[in-house]
Amino acid sequence: MRDSIEQTSADTVEEVEQFDAIIIGAGLTGLYQLYRLRQLGLTVRVFDDGAGVGGTWYWNRYPGARFDSESYTYGYSFSEDLLQEWDWKEHFSGQPENERYLNYVADKFNLRGDIQLNSPVSSAVYDDGEDCWEIYTEDGRRARARFLIAAVGVLSARYLPDFPGIDSFQGDWCHTARWPEEGMDLTGKRVGVVGTGATAIQLIPKIAEEVAHLTVFQRTPNYAAPLRNSEIDPETQQQIKASYPELFAKLKETSGGFIHDVDPRSCFEVSPEERLAKYEELWAQRGFSKWLGNFKDTLTDDAANEDYAEFVRNKIRERVHDPVVAEMLVPKDHPFGSKRIPLETNYYEAYNRDNVLLVDVKKAPIESITPKGIKTQDTEYELDVIIFATGFDAVTGSLTRIDIRGEGGQTIKDKYAGGPRNYMGLQSVGFPNLFIMPGAGAGNFTRGCEPVVEWVADCIGYLRQNEFKHISATPEAEEAWTEYVAEATANSLRTKADSWFVGANIPGKARVFLGSPDSAPVARAKRAQVAANGYEGFLLR
Ligand code: NAP
Repeated sequence: MRDSIEQTSADTVEEVEQFDAIIIGAGLTGLYQLYRLRQLGLTVRVFDDGAGVGGTWYWNRYPGARFDSESYTYGYSFSEDLLQEWDWKEHFSGQPENERYLNYVADKFNLRGDIQLNSPVSSAVYDDGEDCWEIYTEDGRRARARFLIAAVGVLSARYLPDFPGIDSFQGDWCHTARWPEEGMDLTGKRVGVVGTGATAIQLIPKIAEEVAHLTVFQRTPNYAAPLRNSEIDPETQQQIKASYPELFAKLKETSGGFIHDVDPRSCFEVSPEERLAKYEELWAQRGFSKWLGNFKDTLTDDAANEDYAEFVRNKIRERVHDPVVAEMLVPKDHPFGSKRIPLETNYYEAYNRDNVLLVDVKKAPIESITPKGIKTQDTEYELDVIIFATGFDAVTGSLTRIDIRGEGGQTIKDKYAGGPRNYMGLQSVGFPNLFIMPGAGAGNFTRGCEPVVEWVADCIGYLRQNEFKHISATPEAEEAWTEYVAEATANSLRTKADSWFVGANIPGKARVFLGSPDSAPVARAKRAQVAANGYEGFLLR
């Protein structure tokens, strides 16, 4: 049962609600965590800053936003009823449907009563004496719980570059991760898009037809590949539903929770003709097959990678009519696959339109936002609307923007100043009873989050059963894990580009690998072993 504690200070009486667990975030992870903890009989409250549930799929409502994993591989797998009831309409479902799905989940499992929306958590303070956390929301509410679960998302702290003059702009502007619920009327407007990452690559072809003129400010081109989305016909729908057990069993065994199988051959083992035929075959397929279904050495060997990268560059060149523009869109400064591959529909064709202009802001960087538009080092571009598709302070940003104070008042922001320091991504020394929900990094997000949610629920169940009030990672375990992450990822492809994977997209952020150093099956096995050994590496009290 939930209690209310009347706390009296000098001249105020405040109500502090008391729960067994507090979850920050009502996205994919937070919703499932709530479900699992309630199954254990805990009282739980979820706080979220959005006006609706869904996290990423609530906020990222820009035109074109959709899954890059096949819909049926991305949905929750924990409920057979849910799997059979929900019909994914498209192979790569769009944001409106994804948001509907998460609302459906919230209703189906009766979760809403424990979710407080429009409630950004501004701070969380650990009470050493009581072994519990007290959280404060921006509107002044307080709540306490033994366990705090930060299900704050990997890509949820939006990043807006510090361009001078943004407040002077006389038109409208927004960040793609804060697209207004009522939409933006871009019809007949002169629109500028800053950034050409996965978000912009989805957005640009959608709005190019609607606007009077579109100026795209590109700093670094990406290797984008065709998504090849389509609707799911009734027969395929039936086949998908019948195959869920095998599908999820398979996804469990793949490195990132994706459906694609790596070709066990080396790319140089086959003739150039055979190699090209394989590349073409992959190119014609849906989704990430061209990233993850390639030869075994495409993502590990420099020469193999370059061979495929050149194939992709030529695909881009083929689609863009103006050779100068085509060359601007061809990436040359990072290996193929070192960033998550943006999947697109008609992205490159957008640059064949008369009303679309590509501007190289590596050559002439953006200097300021003016009342009329964007001023680069050599030109001022007049605009009615500016859209910042400039990404996120990934993984750590959503945590460090909350004033989280652990033992002795130390903040997570200070602790993470040189990069994340934690044990298995789950807990950081000095912050007992706080579970940090790690993201899947380069993987399929739901496949990555479900097992972690289950592990945390089991762990909390174990603590309660054994009447432990306190769990904290040991300094030795954290030190060893942090060293392991650095060593295991030092030569990984994912560290070879300046992307959010390593914090390189944020000026001044420490360059540290932010994802999991292990494949999903290995990470799962390690967590299981830790639990089987009585939560080895953690101090329980
Ligand atoms: P992003 O990949 O970080 O891209 C941000 C863009 O903004 C980059 O092109 C970046 O250029 C540019 N930028 C940043 N600061 C700038 C500045 N000062 N001047 C000019 N340009 C600047 O962010 P994102 O596109 O939002 O994607 C982030 C991640 O979200 C993706 O990797 C993916 O994991 C996920 N995502 C997934 C989907 C999906 O299909 N499910 C869709 C969208 C996003 P530089 O590259 O030069 O830094």
